[in-house]
Amino acid sequence: MTLGTRANTIGELRASGYEVLTVREEIRNNLIAKIRSEELVFPGIIGFNETVIPQLENAILAGQDIILLGERGQAKSRLIRSMVALLDESVPIIAGCEINDNPYDPICRGCRDMVDEQGDDTPVEWVSRDERYSEKLATPDISIADLIGEIDPIKVAEGRHLSDELVIHYGLVPRTNRGIFCINELPDLAERIQVGLFNLMEERDVQIKGYRIRLPLDVYVVSTANPEDYTNRGRIVTPLKDRYGSQIHTHYPKDPADEIAIMEQERTRFPDEDKLIIPGYMKEILAEITSQARQSNEINQRSGVSVRVSISNFETLLGNAMRRAILHGDQWICPRSSDLPYIVASFTGKIELETFEEGRESRVTDDLTRRAALRVFGNYFDVSELEDIILAFDLGETAEVGSDKQASTYPALLERIDGLAGAVRRLTDDNRDEAIASAVEFVLEGLHLNRRLNCDRTPAGSTYSR
Ligand SMILES: [Zn+2]
Repeated sequence: MTLGTRANTIGELRASGYEVLTVREEIRNNLIAKIRSEELVFPGIIGFNETVIPQLENAILAGQDIILLGERGQAKSRLIRSMVALLDESVPIIAGCEINDNPYDPICRGCRDMVDEQGDDTPVEWVSRDERYSEKLATPDISIADLIGEIDPIKVAEGRHLSDELVIHYGLVPRTNRGIFCINELPDLAERIQVGLFNLMEERDVQIKGYRIRLPLDVYVVSTANPEDYTNRGRIVTPLKDRYGSQIHTHYPKDPADEIAIMEQERTRFPDEDKLIIPGYMKEILAEITSQARQSNEINQRSGVSVRVSISNFETLLGNAMRRAILHGDQWICPRSSDLPYIVASFTGKIELETFEEGRESRVTDDLTRRAALRVFGNYFDVSELEDIILAFDLGETAEVGSDKQASTYPALLERIDGLAGAVRRLTDDNRDEAIASAVEFVLEGLHLNRRLNCDRTPAGSTYSR
C-alpha cells in the first residue's frame, strides 16, 4: 500500500515518499490485504465461493492475465467490474495526461516535454479507481483506432513527424493505462485486432497504419468469452491464447438457493416493497424453471440460459400479482401458480429455441413450468398424504381459481374441502387471504400435475374437479 497524500506536483509526490506500483502489484497488494483481514473480496457475487473466486484470486496473486469462459449471464462482467475495488482509491498521474502517465516515468511525448521543462514543478492530479476501468464488447467492426489509436491527420498536416507520439489519437486501451481493461466476447474481435492487442500487451508496441509505435503501457487486460467460441479453432490467434495465464470457467448457480438469492438481489425494487408476500415455493418454481431450461434439448445450450431469465421471470410474476392487487383493491401482493403463464413475456426473449415454429415458445414455457411446479410440489408433499382432499373432490367438490380471482374468495375453500386447510398450513402460517390464495392454488395445481385432479382451464380461470 502506498501513501495516500494528495501531492500537487511531482516534487511534492517524491517528498511524500509515494511509490508508484504497476497495476498488477497494486491489485495484488490490495487483494492480499483483503484476504488477510477476511474482507469480502467480491461482494454480491453468489455461488462462486468454492469454484471461480479461489481461481480468480490465485490468478491475481500470480499476476496473470485472465480469461473468463462461460455462457451468458454467469456474472462474468460483474466479477471483472468488482476487480475495480482492488485498485487504490486514487493514484497520481501527470495532470491532463490522456493516458494516466506515471509522474515518475511518463511515456507520452506531451508529458515528457512537460517534465523536461518544469521538472519537479510539473503538476500532478489524482484519478479515482472508477476512472481506471473500461470495458468493451467485442464486435467484428471494432478497429485498431477504437482500441489502440490512430494517427491524427490534422496533426500530421501541421508538420509533426510521424514518430512523434503527439500525432496519435489514443484509443480505449491506452486511455486505460495503469488500469483494468475488460474485453467481452473476445472471439468476436477481428484477427488483426487480436494481433494488435497482443503486440500491445506483449511487445508493448503497436503498428498503426504501417508505423511501428512504441507504447509501453501498463494495463491489466481481462477478457471474457463463450467457451465454445473460444475453443473453436481459429477464432483466437494462438499467441493471444498463450498469453492468458489463467483460463477460468464460470458456471450457473449449482444450488437453487443461490439462484434464488441472485433473483432477490437483482430484481427491480420499488418503495411499496412492504406490500409483498412472496412464498418460498413460488421462488423455488422460478429457479426450477430456469434449471429445467438449462437441461432442455429444445433450448440452445451453447448460448445458455442466463440468471437474468430467473430475475426477469420473478419481476414479471410480481408484476402480475401487483396488477391483480390494484384491480381488486387488495392490500397485499402475493404471486400464485395461476400467475406463472405470464412469465412467457420475460422468458421467451431470453432463450434461443433449437427450432422455430409458430406457438412453440409458449408451449416450451408451459412444459417447463409444469415440470418445475411438479418437482417443487414433490419437495413439499407426498401425494398419499393428501388423500382426504382427493376424497372431497370425489364427493363432488369443485374449486374455481385463477389469477383474476379475488383473494378473499379462497378461505371459503378451506372450509368446504376437507384436508385443504391442513395442506395450506404446511406451506404457510400466514393468515392473510392473499397468502392463503397462493397456497391453495399451489396445492390444487400440484394434485393436478400428479394426475389426481382434473383441471379445466378457460380464460376466466381454472376449475379443479375429479
Ligand atoms: Zn502523458
